[in-house]
Amino acid sequence: MTYRRFDGQENEFEEWALSNPGGIVVNSSPGRLNPTYLKAHRPKCNSFWNHPEARTNYSKHCFDSATEAIEYLRVNEIGKPGFECTACRVAALEPTPEFTEFEKRVAVLLAEGVTQDPPGNIHPSKVEISGGTAYYRDPLVAARVQQYAEGKCELCRAHAPFRTVRGTPYLEIHHVRKLADGGGDTVCNTVALCPNCHRATHYAQDARDLTRALYDALARLRPQ
Ligand SMILES: [Zn+2]
Ligand SMILES: [Zn+2]
Repeated sequence: MTYRRFDGQENEFEEWALSNPGGIVVNSSPGRLNPTYLKAHRPKCNSFWNHPEARTNYSKHCFDSATEAIEYLRVNEIGKPGFECTACRVAALEPTPEFTEFEKRVAVLLAEGVTQDPPGNIHPSKVEISGGTAYYRDPLVAARVQQYAEGKCELCRAHAPFRTVRGTPYLEIHHVRKLADGGGDTVCNTVALCPNCHRATHYAQDARDLTRALYDALARLRPQ
C-alpha cells in the first residue's frame, strides 16, 4: 500500500492524481488526519481543483484505492472517511457487500471507463447477512473486468445474453478462487461470465476443467 500526503505541493499532487485515477484523496486538517473531518474524493474532483483556497487549508492524504484509505484510517484508529461528495461521485468507489448498490456503482464506473487495473483487495472483509456471508467488493475491480470482457463471456466467448436496464451487457462477476476460500477481489482473480458458464463453474461435473480453461485463456489471471 502506498500512502502519500500533500500539503500544498500542487505539482506533486497533480502528478500523483494523473497516475492514480482510481485512487482516493482524503481531505483533512492541515498536517494530519483529523478524525472530525475526513472527506474522501476522487483525484479528479473539482471541489479541490477549482478552489485554490481549499488547497492551502487542507492536507491531501492520498491512497491507491478506497479499500486502502478505509483500512489505513481503521488500523490507525482515526475513523471512517465520508464518501458523500457528489461532485466526483466518490461513493461509486466505496466497496459494499450489498448487491444492488454494488451493481449501481459498477454501472457508474463503467459509463466513465476504467483506465487502469485497480489494486482491489486480497482479503476483502465480510458481513453475515440473512442467507449467508457477503463480502465488501470493490466496484472498480468489477467494472475493470466487465471492460476486459467487452460484452462477451470470458469462458465460452458468447455475447452477453441481454442488456440490463442500464444498457450494459449482462455478465456475472465470478471470483475464480472463491472469496470464501481465500481468493482475492482483484482483477487477477475475477472474470465476467454468462449465466450458464457462471453456474457451470460452480456446479458442473467438469468445473475444475472450466477453471483451468479460464487460467489458460486469460493472461491477467494468477492462480491463487
Ligand atoms: Zn469530491
Ligand atoms: Zn459463457
